[in-house]
Amino acid sequence: MTLAHPAYGKLRAVTPSAAVLLANNPGPMTLDGTNTWILRAPGHTDCVVVDPGPDDPGHIAAIAEATAGAVALTLITHRHPDHTGGIDELVRLTGAPVRAMEPEFLRGDVRPLIDGEVIEIAGLRITVLHTPGHTADSVSFLLADAVLTGDTILGRGTTVLDRDGTLRDYLRSMDRLLDAGAGRALLPAHGPDHPDLEPVARYYISHRHERLAQVRSALDELGPAADAMDVVRKVYADVDESLWPAARSSVESQLTYLRSEADA
Ligand SMILES: [Zn+2]
Repeated sequence: MTLAHPAYGKLRAVTPSAAVLLANNPGPMTLDGTNTWILRAPGHTDCVVVDPGPDDPGHIAAIAEATAGAVALTLITHRHPDHTGGIDELVRLTGAPVRAMEPEFLRGDVRPLIDGEVIEIAGLRITVLHTPGHTADSVSFLLADAVLTGDTILGRGTTVLDRDGTLRDYLRSMDRLLDAGAGRALLPAHGPDHPDLEPVARYYISHRHERLAQVRSALDELGPAADAMDVVRKVYADVDESLWPAARSSVESQLTYLRSEADA
C-alpha cells in the first residue's frame, strides 16, 4: 500500500532515492511535524539523513531503525531546534558525522557547508545551495531529481522570515531555487512533498509580492513610521493570532526591504 503524508512513524518512499520519516511534533510553525529525509542511492545500503528533527528520542530511534544505523552523513538545513534538537541522540546511535552551515551543529571531523559545494557520498551527488531568508544559515540540497528545501519552501502555507533572514535574501533564494529546481521534486522540511518545485516556488514568490503590496498600503494608511505590530494587525488579520509574533519578524523584514527601497 502506498503511504500518504502525514504518515507518522513510517518510512514513506517519495522518489527512487528519497524517503521521509515524519516526526510527531505538529504545531502552528511545524505544520504536521518535521520531515526527516533519508536519502539512499539505489543499490546502496548506507544513506544520508537530512534534519534529525526535534529532541524526541522516539523519533531518533525510528531514524536509526529505518537506516539500520548505516548513516554515512547527516545534513542540517538550518539552525531551528525542530531540525537540530535530535542531533546528539542520532550521533550517539549511529556515530555519523553532522554537517551544517553553522559551526555549532558540526559533529565529527567535518567542515561547515559551503555554497555550491558538491557532496559525493554513498552513491549520491548532493549540491549545497545557500538559500538564506527563512534564516541566514538556511541551505537547500539539490539532487538529480529533487530539491530538499528545508523551511525555505514548505509543502503548504508559506514560510516565516526569522530575525536573521531578510526579504531581499529570501527573494534572491527563491529565484535561485526556481532556476536550479524547476522540474525536480520538492522535498520540504514540513508539509507534503510535490512532484515539481516550480509551481510552489512561483506561488511563494507571488505571495511575497502580494504581502509586500499589502504592507505598502498599510503604511500609506498608518504613516511611514508605523510599528511592525500595527502592520501585522492590519495585514495578517486573516491569520491566527498565535502566528502574529512570527508574522511580526516577516513584517520587520518587509519594512526593512521597503525602507531600503525608499532610500535607494
Ligand atoms: Zn525553521
